[in-house]
Amino acid sequence: MSDSQEHVRCLIIGSGPAGYTAAIYAARADLKPVLYQGLQPGGQLTITTEVENYPGYPKGTMGPDMMEDFKAQAEKFGADIRFGYATSVDFSGPVHKVIIDETKVITADSVILATGASAKWLGLESEQRLNGFGVSACAVCDGYFFRGQEVAIVGAGDTAAEEATYLAKLCKKVYMIVRRDEMRASKAMQHRVQNTANIEVLWNHETLEVMGGKTVEAVRVKNVRTGEERIIPVTGFFVAIGHQPNSDIFKGWIKMDETGYIQTVAGSSKTNIEGVFAAGDVADKIYRQAVTAAGTGCMAALDAERYLAARGIH
Ligand code: NDP
Repeated sequence: MSDSQEHVRCLIIGSGPAGYTAAIYAARADLKPVLYQGLQPGGQLTITTEVENYPGYPKGTMGPDMMEDFKAQAEKFGADIRFGYATSVDFSGPVHKVIIDETKVITADSVILATGASAKWLGLESEQRLNGFGVSACAVCDGYFFRGQEVAIVGAGDTAAEEATYLAKLCKKVYMIVRRDEMRASKAMQHRVQNTANIEVLWNHETLEVMGGKTVEAVRVKNVRTGEERIIPVTGFFVAIGHQPNSDIFKGWIKMDETGYIQTVAGSSKTNIEGVFAAGDVADKIYRQAVTAAGTGCMAALDAERYLAARGIH
């Protein structure tokens, strides 16, 4: 076998809570897992600030620190955690093939896909600059920091509607910025929004700029029908225009829904390919929480362990 080819029993792709939890369990089961971290080591939690809803941290913890702890815990049990990005896969045979950084070939008896999802952003320079300083893509994670304040949320799908009503419970006022004259969200969610007194929907509005020096102070919006511009003073700006599962490289091999989320066999982490398991946000468009990702990461490692044991692969 050449230097650029290596065989492992359990390969984990992705380094968010799902990947690291899978690594902890797989390492403790002596599967000698190798984990490739991907482009954003630690995943989405590394771009949040404080995490207050992960059980076991009554005082809260910082997202990046938490991911360092997950990593350290996996390494403590012998998980081999490496920089590197999976660029393609070949799941045609009983032994699975994953190419790292376009050059290194890893063959694996079992593979855990934990590549996560990425929030979609509007693409404004100001949105990027203030990300983590009032700009957030997760109301459930960050809404609490804006309690009693005025915030805005952009989007009109189920996520935006759900997050707007969540924020409305905590905040004084929520401006919901909707780019058309109707919402994509389910009727039930739309009714909840419309029946919430402190949500004001700005129909036909687009966001031009998130304003503020060090933190968000206002948002500049434009009515696309009339051309009228307005500055709304808010301290929080939430973007809820959808997520993109990081599943492109698995297309053609792994069964997914029409939006690219991996489909697993109900009650398990099994995919349509034997020995390939999925965990975390790449297979979850509903919950998307660190704790649910960790839970499914655990499931994937246990499923991989049983799969290998049943085939006598030690
Ligand atoms: P969706 O893709 O359903 O909605 C995205 C929304 O963002 C749309 O309203 C879209 O507007 C808007 N949008 C997209 N780009 C921009 C932009 N550049 N500027 C302004 N607005 C923009 O994503 P969701 O995350 O809401 O939902 C994803 C899936 O998950 C859906 O199938 C949803 O039903 C499901 N879900 C279910 C939940 C539940 O059942 N409780 C909870 C959350 C999600 P437009 O409509 O104009 O295209």
